Amino acid sequence: MGLFENKKAVICGVANERSIAWAIAQHLHREGAELAFTYAGDAFRERVEPLAASLGSKLVLSCDVTKDDEIDAAFERLRDEWGGMDVLVHSLAFANKEELKGRFVDTSREGFMLAMNVSAYSLVALSRRALPLMAGRSGNVLTLSYYGAEKVFPNYNVMGVAKAALESTVQYLAADLGKDGVRVNAISAGPIRTLAAMGIGDFREILNHVQSRSPLNKNVTADEVGKTAVYLCSDLASGVTGEVIHVDAGYHVIGM
Ligand code: NAD
Repeated sequence: MGLFENKKAVICGVANERSIAWAIAQHLHREGAELAFTYAGDAFRERVEPLAASLGSKLVLSCDVTKDDEIDAAFERLRDEWGGMDVLVHSLAFANKEELKGRFVDTSREGFMLAMNVSAYSLVALSRRALPLMAGRSGNVLTLSYYGAEKVFPNYNVMGVAKAALESTVQYLAADLGKDGVRVNAISAGPIRTLAAMGIGDFREILNHVQSRSPLNKNVTADEVGKTAVYLCSDLASGVTGEVIHVDAGYHVIGM
C-alpha cells in the first residue's frame, strides 16, 4: 500500500514536465495520492491538462495567486469535488526578469511587491483556504525555497529576499497551524534547469559552480526533490514541522 493511499493532494505550480511541481506530483501519484492541479493563465492550462490526465486527474483549476477571487473559486471547487484534502504543494514564484539581473539596489517598489506577493504571501493565502479542507486529516503544506534566502547569489536579488520571507512564513504558519494538526515545511532545492530558473541571469554559472563545489559533485534533479517531498508530506515525517530541508547535493555546508 502506498504512503498516500486515500489521500488527496493539490499541486500548485506545474508549468511543464520540467517543473519541480511535476516531479513531486509524479511521486505522490506513485504512492497512491489523488491529485488536483492549479495553473495561472490560459497558456499554462493547455500544458497542464494533458500532464494531469496522464496521472488520472481531471481537476485542473485556474488559480493565479495574485487574485483572491480565483483562489476562492479553486478551493470552493475542491471542497465541492473532494470534501477535504490532505496535501498542499506550493511550488511557484515570480519576479520580473529585469529584477533578476544587475544590482539589487535598483529593485523597483513594484518589482519588490510583486515578487513578495506571488512568491511569499501566496503561501499564506493558499494555506488559509486549505485549512478548513484539512480539518481532522493531518494536513501537510509544502513549499519550495532556495539557498538564496540565506546567502547572496548574483542576480537572484529580490527573489532571495522573497525566499527569506517565504522561509519565515513557513515557521509562522507551522506555529499557527500545528494546533490544527497541519504541518508546514519547505524544501530548499539546489539549482535545476526549469522555466522559472531560466529567467535568472547567468543561471548556467550557478549550475556549474554547484556541480564543481557541492559535496556530491553534482546538481540535484527535480526527481530527487520529489522523493524528499514524499517524506515530508507523509507520515514518515509526522514529527517534523517548520523545517527547511536542503536538497542541494550538500552545497549549503561548504564554506570554502
Ligand atoms: P517552473 O517555471 O516550472 O514553475 C514556476 C511556477 O510558478 C509556474 O508553474 C508558474 O505558472 C507559477 N506561477 C508564476 N506566477 C504565478 C501566479 N501569479 N499564480 C500562480 N502561479 C504562478 O519552475 P520551478 O523551478 O519548478 O519553480 C517551482 C518553485 O521551485 C519556485 O518556488 C522556485 O523558486 C523554486 N525553486 C526552484 C529552483 C530551480 O533552480 N529551478 C531552485 C530552488 C527553488
